[in-house]
Amino acid sequence: MTKEVRALFLILIITVAPLLVYAFLQVRSLDEDEKMAAAAYEKQLDVILFSLNQYADDMMNRWMRQLADQQNTLDENVTQLIIGNESIQMLVLRNTQTKQDSIYANDYVEINDSTYQKVADWYDRKDSVINRLSEYLAAGFQKIQPADGWKTISGLRADQTGVTVMVYDEDSILYNALFILEKKFWVEQVLGLQMQKIDQDQFTIAVGNWHEETQQSPNLFYQTTLFSLKKKFIRRNLWILPDTYLYIQSKGKSYTDLIQNRSRENLYFLLFSVMVVLIGAFLMIRNIKNTLKVAQLKSDFVSNVSHEIRTPLSLIRMYAETLMLGRVPSEEKKKQYYSTIHHESGRLTFLVNNILDFSRIEGNRKTYRLEKSELNTLAKRIHENFSHYFMEHQVKCKLHLSKVPLSILVDDQAFEEALSNLIENAVKYGNGQNEIELSTFEVNGFACCSIKDNGIGISKAAQKHIFDKFYRVEGALTQKTKGTGLGLSLVKHIMESHQGEVTVESKPNLGSTFTLKFPLNENGNE
Ligand code: ADP
Repeated sequence: MTKEVRALFLILIITVAPLLVYAFLQVRSLDEDEKMAAAAYEKQLDVILFSLNQYADDMMNRWMRQLADQQNTLDENVTQLIIGNESIQMLVLRNTQTKQDSIYANDYVEINDSTYQKVADWYDRKDSVINRLSEYLAAGFQKIQPADGWKTISGLRADQTGVTVMVYDEDSILYNALFILEKKFWVEQVLGLQMQKIDQDQFTIAVGNWHEETQQSPNLFYQTTLFSLKKKFIRRNLWILPDTYLYIQSKGKSYTDLIQNRSRENLYFLLFSVMVVLIGAFLMIRNIKNTLKVAQLKSDFVSNVSHEIRTPLSLIRMYAETLMLGRVPSEEKKKQYYSTIHHESGRLTFLVNNILDFSRIEGNRKTYRLEKSELNTLAKRIHENFSHYFMEHQVKCKLHLSKVPLSILVDDQAFEEALSNLIENAVKYGNGQNEIELSTFEVNGFACCSIKDNGIGISKAAQKHIFDKFYRVEGALTQKTKGTGLGLSLVKHIMESHQGEVTVESKPNLGSTFTLKFPLNENGNE
């Protein structure tokens, strides 16, 4: 791991780690809050069902007080109860001493021998229950016991359930009373009103048959308003009737749902914040990486420039010394030396101009003087100026000029600088191919000047960066060629200042074409 990567990691950990820890703690505490709220809410629902159960108990106690009312005979009390409460399908009184059963029922109920038989069977099986209830009564507590376990009694409605209780008659003879009730009707008659009161706007209450053992889905036979078993609800057994349960759920969104939504919102917000910080950290790291890269490029630049200056300088110095010492054998050689000095100082000027221009651009001090010019004329002139350069590098540069004049507004000197950079590159990166092409033409209202080579070409990825300052493509072929990485960034700046652009088309090993595009000067030919 390099030093920089380590530093970047450190920054990432310092910025993001505390937030992640905070997010984690927050999520955990949200979860706990949610659980607490859910528990509190469940408690509230539980209390409501508890009160309903108590209400049902009270109502049944009232019946039992009516049954045990000593002012009348037991027979009268039973008759009154049956007449007053239609949910009582049948009431059996068993004399605990004689084991005789008397059956009371409404008119619509058919009582026959089989009814008596089923009742007697039930008592045979429930001896222990009756004994226990008797003990309670002897202790002064008239306990009402849920009763079940008889075979469906014909002549009654199928929806049969029951309660049983001990009672003394007027002669203090102990009886057991078995109430066989019509379940749904009983729920409606005894609890209906109370449940509707609770319902109001907030809760839905239902009553249903359910068996703890089978855990099958309940059969709800009474509901205050539409009850959904798919939504969250709580269930408690109805104390007074066997296998019967009370259900409650809140209408609309439950409190738990609300809490859950809220927790979820908080969580999303938190995740969003983490994302923002991560993006921030990412951008920061990218920025730092870029800065480091530019610093590296700058240091490469300094060494490249020194290298570029040293070669022509030592040549100039060497030839000037030789000339000064008069050691040159012939006039022809002298001429050759002067020409080299001239050429190398030209290179130095070009290099220094590039650097000066770059520094002006960086300091926002670079200005252009745009004047009406003709592109063909400019291109031709530069082509001529480069003839010596081409000869020296043994390169042939074909010139294809547009047949029509191309008038543009341009800073001649800047144009020369841009095109010179492109021509130098085409020669430098020509990879020994000794033919390049300089063309002018018009495309879509733009006067174009392109320079094409058959050299090393540029990969798609590198094409994105070649116009950046200091950038030089990595690779042996570029590295062995002298350069500062400034040329194309200058060209780009020059073209943007002319409301034009520089484009590149290139394929590795097949060559490149750079094109300078200037907006045509509409009034140019007037
Ligand atoms: P340099 O001083 O390195 O030539 P430039 O800004 O002129 O700087 O070019 C940037 C880089 O683009 C070069 O280093 C080279 O890798 C690549 N490049 C430019 N022109 C060409 C070309 N005609 N063919 C291939 N590569 C080129």
